[in-house]
Amino acid sequence: MNQLVAAEDLLTEAERLRVREAITAAEKRTSGEIRVHLEDHIEDEVLDHAAFIFEELGMHRTRDRNGVLIYLSVGDRKLAVIGDDAIDQRVPENFWNDVLGILKLHLAAGRAAEGLEEAVHMVGEKLGAHFPLKADDRDELPNDVSFGRR
Ligand code: CA
Ligand code: CA
Repeated sequence: MNQLVAAEDLLTEAERLRVREAITAAEKRTSGEIRVHLEDHIEDEVLDHAAFIFEELGMHRTRDRNGVLIYLSVGDRKLAVIGDDAIDQRVPENFWNDVLGILKLHLAAGRAAEGLEEAVHMVGEKLGAHFPLKADDRDELPNDVSFGRR
């Protein structure tokens, strides 16, 4: 295990704040909610696991069913980007994979924070196009990067 990078060590404190700011900025233009969740290591299949985390974080309970989770198992570089039903139905089939591709490129180059910021930005643009901000918007889910308990 000790050769693996721990989730907590992927981002510096300042980088973690930058990712949070990226989420806050994206959510100023959409009713959609974005979260970034990091874990150390998983055994199971990443998409299944990300779907489980999506529920654990209560992301299926947004008013417009437009939450998007950017999930990363840091130690084994397993990534997933998943959106709730309403946004998933509106994006092109390859959209989530495009976001993943960009994130992977950045991670491979050691630019985790930039990758997460860009992924948040891409998702935010798409959410904004389909779900513009409403006058009565609430911040339904925390913008802080969250960490798994493993
Ligand atoms: Ca909101
Ligand atoms: Ca939020």
